[in-house]
Amino acid sequence: MPGRIGFPRIPLAHLPTPLERLDRLGAHLGMEPGALSIKRDDATGLAGGGNKARKLEYLCADAQARGCDTLVTGGGHQSNHVRMTAAAANRVGLACTVVIAGAQPEQPSGNVLLDELLGPAIVWIGPATYYAIEAAIVHESERLTATGRRPYAIPVGGANAIGALGYVVAAEELRTQQRAQLGAQLAEVELVVVADGSGGTHAGLAAGFDDHALVLGIDVGARPDLDQQVPSKADEVAALAGLPPPAGHCQIDHDQIGMGYAAPTDACREALELAARLEGVILDPVYTGKAMAGLIQARRDGRIGASTTTVFWHTGGMPALFARAYADWIRTGSTLWTT
Ligand SMILES: *Cc1c(COP(=O)(O)O)cnc(C)c1O
Repeated sequence: MPGRIGFPRIPLAHLPTPLERLDRLGAHLGMEPGALSIKRDDATGLAGGGNKARKLEYLCADAQARGCDTLVTGGGHQSNHVRMTAAAANRVGLACTVVIAGAQPEQPSGNVLLDELLGPAIVWIGPATYYAIEAAIVHESERLTATGRRPYAIPVGGANAIGALGYVVAAEELRTQQRAQLGAQLAEVELVVVADGSGGTHAGLAAGFDDHALVLGIDVGARPDLDQQVPSKADEVAALAGLPPPAGHCQIDHDQIGMGYAAPTDACREALELAARLEGVILDPVYTGKAMAGLIQARRDGRIGASTTTVFWHTGGMPALFARAYADWIRTGSTLWTT
């Protein structure tokens, strides 16, 4: 089925995702009623939900169009992208091989438990950097090709231009929804705050809004080259969608990484508690907790004003909370953490 931007798309996500006001959290941060809202991409469905569902709609359609029979991807130990790719493969009837950084745990928890239930071929590659995971995805694809299979390699986070098309369309979805909800008085969105892992979501949104000034990405420490990757990926996906390159300068906040990718911080914990206790919204320790911490910091230092129409883009990730290490962190508040 061709999607709105003329690329084949397989519907996998529950769309549009809700756009909800966060007036109680907004009030806590000294914001006017209606200024702060949340885009619920944690509610996309697909084996627990999250931002990868929108990317996989385009990636799976591309895989099928190319006659591929196996999705190949990878990620960190508690990768949401791995979980959702395995689910998408099952839903569309493709095989799936995933490479995961780290050692196979004795007792699977969080995303790994769901991975085992979903049943892709899992290759544990030991401690690995972002680039080592990318290399392992290529390696597994070549190995499958040599055995006569037709692999479709998806980079970490689904962060190529095809995947980012999902967020070009999502930007339009937000605008439409906002206009419908606000009626004629039009306080258009002034800032979207989103977690930057691979940066594909940020790139797609900037391209879809046609303006870098509307998106503030919060670096969670997954890759060191976001400042180059996001703008170049945004130009690439804009070209693919037939749009002009987005105006302005790419905005990425690098202040919330703490000790590194997946290592929680005190600010992340404060964000998790505020969202849970003021709004009943569950954030995750790896991505959305740090992203919300970045929003709170930007509000406190005045980069977000009391009436700035701000949308926090929730990208999912709840299963990681059920990984043992994070459960201990939630209970004890301990941020003594080693990666
Ligand atoms: C993958 C992921 C992100 C980061 O998205 P990118 O497009 O890779 O930057 C953010 N939040 C959650 C929960 C994710 O799983």
